[in-house]
Amino acid sequence: MNDLPYPYLLYQWIWKAVDWIFPPVCGGCSILGTRWCDQCQQSLQRIRGQLCSRCGMPMGTNTVCNHCHERPFVIDGLRAYACYAGPLRNAIHRLKYQRDIALGETLAGFLVELYREVQWEIDLVVAVPLGVVRRRERGYNQAALIAYPLSLAIRVPYGRGALQRVRETASQVDLSFLQRLENVKDAFWADAPKVAGRNVLVIDDVTTTGATINACAEALKKAGANTVYGFVVARTILSEGGRNDRAS
Ligand SMILES: [Zn+2]
Ligand SMILES: [Zn+2]
Repeated sequence: MNDLPYPYLLYQWIWKAVDWIFPPVCGGCSILGTRWCDQCQQSLQRIRGQLCSRCGMPMGTNTVCNHCHERPFVIDGLRAYACYAGPLRNAIHRLKYQRDIALGETLAGFLVELYREVQWEIDLVVAVPLGVVRRRERGYNQAALIAYPLSLAIRVPYGRGALQRVRETASQVDLSFLQRLENVKDAFWADAPKVAGRNVLVIDDVTTTGATINACAEALKKAGANTVYGFVVARTILSEGGRNDRAS
């Protein structure tokens, strides 16, 4: 842990100070005294091994999944830390809907671990943006609360405003894979001077098919980004052709 850069340690320290004043509960199981307990850590189902080489969906083989055969992704790689289930699902829910914003830093720690595993070359970190209306309702972007501490930890600049949502999109729940791609098509815009020639890592809290983060990759590449990768904390694991879930 001693190789972590000073700004990240400072950021962690600020949240530790907040925890000291307001004792936290575990984001996964609500036990008092920690933001993430050992038991919840052990419950994580990491997503590793044989993955679709495009979208990162777990596969029995190292090939391309059926979705990516149907319509190839633009994103150069997408990885999820763990399955969207159990305590991790609770924690993401608390961060997103219950204003437990300190969990952003906790979840960022998982992506620091993932970053060390994949060893992608990254120059810029951005978060999947919310639309203006949803941002105003929620008061914060949960993906940014994960992306910013990650950028500090891996010493890569954070691209504030580099990626924006230019139209609100309907909920992706109950949409098929192709409907999801249509739903988020052209929903994002990237600022060319900030992203051109860069290797960008896009961060989101959760994904199902990767359609949203792929739409971000399309906007970034249209603005001249060199390569675009994606990290999500959790992924809903669907059977091939499955469609019902609560992630976006
Ligand atoms: Zn717990
Ligand atoms: Zn795939």
